[in-house]
Amino acid sequence: MESSSPEKGVRTEAEWKEILTSKQYYVLRQKGTERPFSGKYNTFQEDGVYKCGACGAVLFSSESKFDSHCGWPAFSAPKDSDTVTESRDTTLGMTRTEITCSKCGSHLGHVFNDGPGPTGLRYCINSVALDFEKEEK
Ligand code: FE
Repeated sequence: MESSSPEKGVRTEAEWKEILTSKQYYVLRQKGTERPFSGKYNTFQEDGVYKCGACGAVLFSSESKFDSHCGWPAFSAPKDSDTVTESRDTTLGMTRTEITCSKCGSHLGHVFNDGPGPTGLRYCINSVALDFEKEEK
């Protein structure tokens, strides 16, 4: 098994810029937002896990994914509570809760209190910030 330190996957901005596509870099490192209904996982429904598009940390499971009709992939909960970090975001004249990858600090999206499931939460995440991995059942 490959050994990994906690810092594995964390890089400098210059490295991120080199590794990521310009779209990925804009969302993950510059806190951008992809256009609604443009992302590849918006209506995607396969079984598996969604990893951070920057560092590869496992963030969400397809089990918690639902169709929010908002134009971005939506999840009712992260795979584990400590895989994502919440912080207050007051940009664009709104108060929102930003979601970042706990491992590498990359921006993923926002969480809102209008989810339909038992948690009442809607993690609204950019497709370009995620990397899907199929789970064989
Ligand atoms: Fe990450």
